Amino acid sequence: MAVSKSYDCLISDSLLPRNEARALLAHVLSKDKSWVIAHGDETGPEEVSRPIQLLFLRRRNGEPMAYLLGAKEFYGRSFSVGPGVLIPRPETELMVDWALEVLRAGVSDRASMALDLGCGTGCIGLSLALEAERLGLALAQLTLVDCAPEAIEFTQRNTKQLSVHKLSRTSVNIVQGSWFDPIDPSLRFDLIVSNPPYIRLGDAHLSQGDLRFEPPHALSSGESGLQAVKLIITEAAGFLQPSGRLLLEHGYDQAVAIRTLFQEHGYISIETRADLAGHDRVSAGRKR
Ligand code: GLN
Repeated sequence: MAVSKSYDCLISDSLLPRNEARALLAHVLSKDKSWVIAHGDETGPEEVSRPIQLLFLRRRNGEPMAYLLGAKEFYGRSFSVGPGVLIPRPETELMVDWALEVLRAGVSDRASMALDLGCGTGCIGLSLALEAERLGLALAQLTLVDCAPEAIEFTQRNTKQLSVHKLSRTSVNIVQGSWFDPIDPSLRFDLIVSNPPYIRLGDAHLSQGDLRFEPPHALSSGESGLQAVKLIITEAAGFLQPSGRLLLEHGYDQAVAIRTLFQEHGYISIETRADLAGHDRVSAGRKR
């Protein structure tokens, strides 16, 4: 038996933007969006009707597309994502670009050791490892840390899905804990990257769009938004090799505060870069 409505009808009745309804429909049907466009006047099998209507309803209630689809593209690859973990964002790709530049310049003669703090889906660290392999840059070890069990699960899943565990040059280590707590204090990294929570508590953005559904611990950090950033800048100095670099993502209006923190903690070569939208987005400092 078939549902009486065509795919096109289901899409217009969904009251969602067409591209979103189409993507959700394609997801349930395990087809791509172009298939849904080409077969718009066909009707689907009965058993897809309920799951489609349920996804449409959840989307109308504001749930992020990435959670409903279970995936989000980042740096040209699809990362598994779901409730309990921050959704990868395009502006964060800047971190990967910059981290690759650091590896290319060669922090030392040895192959580099990198740490991704608050890894979430693992998108920064895992993209870095995959790109380093592709470009022939020496990354010997990548450690990814997050305090949330959901993040550890998604990072493990993405590591397997993207075959990062099979890379010949890079060994991957995924650990649960708060920032530097689970890291052996004798380790020294050449590169530390982090997209920590940096939104001020009470900021209006937290009650808008996707952010309403994302884990608060991955978004906001104290009254100033700088609590996590301060901890990372302070403690990273003890975990970096001389000349090692710390790269931090931050809010568009936090660059001056962050550069000041880097300065106060003795970092050198302090620099900020803007994302594609022209917003100051990542700052870095080098250990003396
Ligand atoms: N860039 C995200 C946003 O403003 C916030 C992510 C974060 O706090 N690290 O939507």
